[in-house]
Amino acid sequence: MHTGATNYYDGKWQPSLSGKTLDSINPANSDRVLGTYARSETADVEAAAQSAANAYHSWRLTPAPKRGTVIFRMGQLLEAHKEQLAQQMTAEMGKVIVEARGDVQEAIDMAYYIAAFGRMPNGHIAPSEREDIFCMAQRVPVGVVGLITPWNFPIAIPSWKMFPALIAGNTIVFKPAEDTPGLAVSFVELLIEAGIPSGVVNLVTGNGNEAGAALVESKSVSTISFTGSTEVGRHIASRCGQMMKRVSCELGGKNAIVVLDDANLELAIKGALWSAFGTAGQRCTAASRVIVQRGVKKRFTVELVERTRALKLGSGADASIEIGPVVNQAQLLRIDRYVEIGKTEGAQVLTGGSILKDGDLAKGYFYAPTVFDSMEIGMRIAQEEIFGPVTGIIEVESLEEALSAANSTAYGLSLSLYTRDVNNAFRAMRDLEAGIVYINLPTSGAEIQLPFGGMKQTGNGHREAGIMAMDYCTEWKSIYVNFSDSEELVRAQIDTIG
Ligand code: NAP
Ligand code: MG
Repeated sequence: MHTGATNYYDGKWQPSLSGKTLDSINPANSDRVLGTYARSETADVEAAAQSAANAYHSWRLTPAPKRGTVIFRMGQLLEAHKEQLAQQMTAEMGKVIVEARGDVQEAIDMAYYIAAFGRMPNGHIAPSEREDIFCMAQRVPVGVVGLITPWNFPIAIPSWKMFPALIAGNTIVFKPAEDTPGLAVSFVELLIEAGIPSGVVNLVTGNGNEAGAALVESKSVSTISFTGSTEVGRHIASRCGQMMKRVSCELGGKNAIVVLDDANLELAIKGALWSAFGTAGQRCTAASRVIVQRGVKKRFTVELVERTRALKLGSGADASIEIGPVVNQAQLLRIDRYVEIGKTEGAQVLTGGSILKDGDLAKGYFYAPTVFDSMEIGMRIAQEEIFGPVTGIIEVESLEEALSAANSTAYGLSLSLYTRDVNNAFRAMRDLEAGIVYINLPTSGAEIQLPFGGMKQTGNGHREAGIMAMDYCTEWKSIYVNFSDSEELVRAQIDTIG
């Protein structure tokens, strides 16, 4: 299909201007090269940004309901191609097929939700303190928006960023993760089929430190929306700060599940298993800490370990598989390094703790689901994001101690508490320092009609999804109209009061 010619701008598929390429491989079997993609650099990014800038004026002036029609058609196309995209996702980044379907479903939900914004109010009207003056404030687009996305939700995350920006009238340059260029190409192909005009959505595949950095630096790009690691986010946010560019960052997490003595234990165990090991622990909302009250700690631990051992690992394309590979070799080695750090710090590995090399698993990047006991809040494994199938149990005495342990990291994305006591639940809802709080639910499982994002170092104050998704990609314009036909100058705050 597009071997090499995988940048899309000026309404055409193009190879990188340097001719450089990169390969995408299947993490369940690294012998399998899935495709060859453009490795873009500054010149490619500038060409794509120019294409977006050229298309901006006509897209901005296209009626919002019409823009919504394109996004609605995109929802229908995503629905029609759901299975195909899910299979491509499992092959390209490894998540198991049911989760891959969920990833595409999230984009479908987002498309239908945002399409309707084309006919929703996009501002508000306020009274004037002066006679015969009409006042209103309106959302307006910001121009060219640059999107930089990770590989772990390769269809959902681009859709969270792109659809709000498009409905507002912005044009886009999209730089997907180097591990998932194929899915980005498929996504843009569907947008073209949905009727997106030439130049409105532009794609540059390539590496973060080349194409991604060039997008951040581009003078034609007014706003950056980034999801990824805190380290890269901090760098991008500081560059944007220097350039006075708008920037939205969705970064790492160190999420926790709290299990109190009065919890529905069976439900809590299932929740912990899913949050810790779903997507092989590579969710920004993955629970890499389980904080358990002393009274149930023993029972909880025995059950969690037993069920962790029983998880079936393999290629996620097989529907009976529960845990797929991690995304690449670097990630696999990083997880293993963290497990070694945990051991040195004094935590005990109850199960897992190694790279899997048996039979077919040796061809892919498989890590044994790992449970640590005796995790303590000061340890690096209790503070730093591991982004793999690794969790640890922290024992506590009381609700207060549990909440303080949950809040003890620099991150604040997702925290959950299992209890049957309404007072405990409400204290947790009030005191947990996270953008997403769950009661009797796992740390993963967000719905698109609510804002998504984190407090503290998980972000810089923005949210995706919900109506708040419009904030990052719009500016407010306040408009005053005098319809009096009087010759008298009436100054605000001066001639009206007193
Ligand atoms: P990452 O290494 O930070 O990469 C994210 C994106 O940034 C990729 O497209 C990457 O390109 C690009 N990039 C890397 N260096 C760059 C630079 N110097 N300038 C511009 N762009 C650059 O993160 P990841 O490993 O792909 O994703 C995992 C992280 O994402 C985790 O920390 C996870 O918690 C976080 N995450 C957060 C949320 C949330 O909403 N809070 C959601 C999902 C994931 P390459 O692909 O070439 O590296
Ligand atoms: Mg890959």
